[in-house]
Amino acid sequence: MAETKTLLKIEGLRKHFGALNVLNGVDLSLGQSKKLVLIGPSGSGKTTLLRCINHLEVPNAGHIYLDGELIGEERRGDRILRASASKLASQRREMGFVFQNFYLWPHLTVLENVALGPWRVQRLARKDAMTLAETMLEKVHMAHKRNEYPERLSGGQQQRIGIARALAQQPKVMLFDEPTSALDPELVGEVLGVIQELAAEGRSMVMVTHEIRFARDVADEIVFMDGGVVVESGSPAEVIDNPRHERTQRFLGQLR
Ligand code: ADP
Repeated sequence: MAETKTLLKIEGLRKHFGALNVLNGVDLSLGQSKKLVLIGPSGSGKTTLLRCINHLEVPNAGHIYLDGELIGEERRGDRILRASASKLASQRREMGFVFQNFYLWPHLTVLENVALGPWRVQRLARKDAMTLAETMLEKVHMAHKRNEYPERLSGGQQQRIGIARALAQQPKVMLFDEPTSALDPELVGEVLGVIQELAAEGRSMVMVTHEIRFARDVADEIVFMDGGVVVESGSPAEVIDNPRHERTQRFLGQLR
């Protein structure tokens, strides 16, 4: 069988905030078109890990590689230096980040929210940016709301716009940070449904979520974190159905 190409690689990642050690040496890798789901107790470092991947948080140690390229850093001879702001900005566009709280622009329409990045940042012609945004809105089943303002939409609809906005960057990998945790329970399904469709298209993704049933259905690999380290990882059948570690068993037991 052909080996899956490694798309994203995380090596020896450490992050502290003052005296608080949040990530204590994390190594992970994601193959092309694979879906990795991070689970673990609140405060275990999942969101920080996701934010370190695109250098929204700057790691204290370790390296991130996307498609073999160092993220947020540049090699100069045998030294590794921080990447320039413009280089980091272009690297970030290769990773579509979906936030817990959407962060849509309230004064822009749905279509403008999605087209803004391609138009102003990626420098597409305005018309092309709008066409791209339309296509992404269709993907999240929100094209009919293109001229609405975000405040007129439900949380689930706003998050689907957040997903369309991330897709419009045409990223190599999608990073979802608890995309349904700010939603009323009845709105969770529509957002998970859209993410499931993207997964079925073969998109590569890393997702932090407490939706264990969804994780079991969608993930190729589940990673259980606690105390800033990976406690165990494997297929859903291994980690969710037959966890080896007591900490994983306890965490899953509390969710049931
Ligand atoms: P999780 O996503 O697993 O709930 P987080 O990565 O959000 O965990 O947080 C891990 C720990 O890091 C928590 O104790 C949190 O309060 C702390 N933390 C996260 N971000 C910051 C920050 N910017 N400054 C200080 N502490 C932070």
